[in-house]
Amino acid sequence: MPTDQSGHATAAAGERFAVLDPATGEAFDEAPAQRPDELDAVVWRAHEAWRGWRSDAVARSKALLTAADAVEAAGADLAPLLTREQGKPLAESYAEVARTAARLRYFAELVPGTRRITDGRPVHSEVRWRPLGPTAAIVPWNFPLQLASAKFAPALAAGNTVVLKPSPLTPLATRLLGSVVAGALPEDVLTVVTGQEPLGARLASHPGIRHVTFTGSVPTGRAVAEGAAASLARITLELGGNDAAVLLDDVDVERIAERLFWAAFRNCGQVCMAVKRVYAPARLYSRVVEALAQHARSVVVGAGLDPGSRLGPVNNAAQLARVERCVDQAVSAGARTVAGGHRLDRPGYFFAPTILADVPPACPVVTEEQFGPVLPVLPYGNLDEAVEAANGTGFGLGGSVWGTDLDRAEAVAGRLECGTAWINHHAELSLAQPFAGIKDSGVGVAGGPWGFYGNLRPFVVHRPGAA
Ligand code: NAD
Repeated sequence: MPTDQSGHATAAAGERFAVLDPATGEAFDEAPAQRPDELDAVVWRAHEAWRGWRSDAVARSKALLTAADAVEAAGADLAPLLTREQGKPLAESYAEVARTAARLRYFAELVPGTRRITDGRPVHSEVRWRPLGPTAAIVPWNFPLQLASAKFAPALAAGNTVVLKPSPLTPLATRLLGSVVAGALPEDVLTVVTGQEPLGARLASHPGIRHVTFTGSVPTGRAVAEGAAASLARITLELGGNDAAVLLDDVDVERIAERLFWAAFRNCGQVCMAVKRVYAPARLYSRVVEALAQHARSVVVGAGLDPGSRLGPVNNAAQLARVERCVDQAVSAGARTVAGGHRLDRPGYFFAPTILADVPPACPVVTEEQFGPVLPVLPYGNLDEAVEAANGTGFGLGGSVWGTDLDRAEAVAGRLECGTAWINHHAELSLAQPFAGIKDSGVGVAGGPWGFYGNLRPFVVHRPGAA
């Protein structure tokens, strides 16, 4: 591949890259690799389009509602394509399409308020809200459509134009979504660009971009922040998580086991806010381990397009290797594999749903984000130790507390250092609530009016009061 002056690989005209089906490990299609000059043109056209788009909130709202209908109508095309490149069961792809449409509708109804400030002085200050400008939305491969819409729906509703870059592992459904949504909008208001790195780095540091809203891993988030520093664009970073579930001693193990299992294994564990560690009281430990292992052993694993598959493959070979490494390190350090623990003997990136017991707490499967179908279960002696362990990683996305006495569970939930703490479930979000990780899990807020205002800046008009 040719390189540019900085040594970055550049795509030649018409160059394309392969997209793999994780259920087979084979290429099934291609996507275009955008050249730097093409990216440049897209960003500057987004700048031009911004002039019109920012000026009419009523037209914006109407266009976004039309886009939501179009997304729903395209579900039968979008969902199978998403499953093919991402791996998830088809029903989950349909759910992702539905949430994308729901997001467009939710944000279409939000209008920035204007507020008059009176503070006793003979002046009026009026706070209005203005969009930031062309926005770069960069998203990962685990929920390509849902995470893309979590960025472009509020950004567009607020009057910004958007350049959206999906992961090169899942570009196709996003390209299709982009054309469906863009069909309801003026030209160049939303554009999808695809390609391998350094396309994302170029987009994040582009001088024409005023806001970079990124979801992905912590190291890439840091690189994005450094890139955006060049133009001092606003950054919103939704990064990794290592959420703990703390089970209390009054928990009804058999009643919650299935819900807890799916909170960890949905989308093959490739969820930023999945349960990634379970802390169980020593007295209940073996029951918790066995109840989770029973679900892990019985769940149907298969290609996402096969009816009946509840868990698909891991999305890509590098992620599969990472999951395998995490398990092997834990087992070498003395952990017990109670279910799974190995790749499946078939083509594609399949890993058996795995429950690990007696895991030394310093193992990477506990301290880092495994992002796969593997769950370590750790015993605790007293609750303070469990809370300290739950809070003891660099992440702070979510956490949950499980028990019968809800007031007690809520008191423990209040001690978790994270953005969202759930009681007796995990990872459920409403469109209307804020979502914000702390520590290494992120910067800024997504979701609800808070996320909407993250796409706006205050503009103040200050004038003398009436005589
Ligand atoms: P990643 O960080 O490797 O990639 C994310 C996106 O950034 C991709 O589009 C990628 O092409 C792009 N990218 C890569 N290098 C870049 C650079 N230097 N500059 C700009 N963009 C660049 O993440 P991934 O492996 O695709 O996704 C998994 C990660 O995403 C996990 O850590 C997971 O926890 C996280 N995630 C977080 C949330 C959240 O809301 N907090 C949600 C989903 C996933």
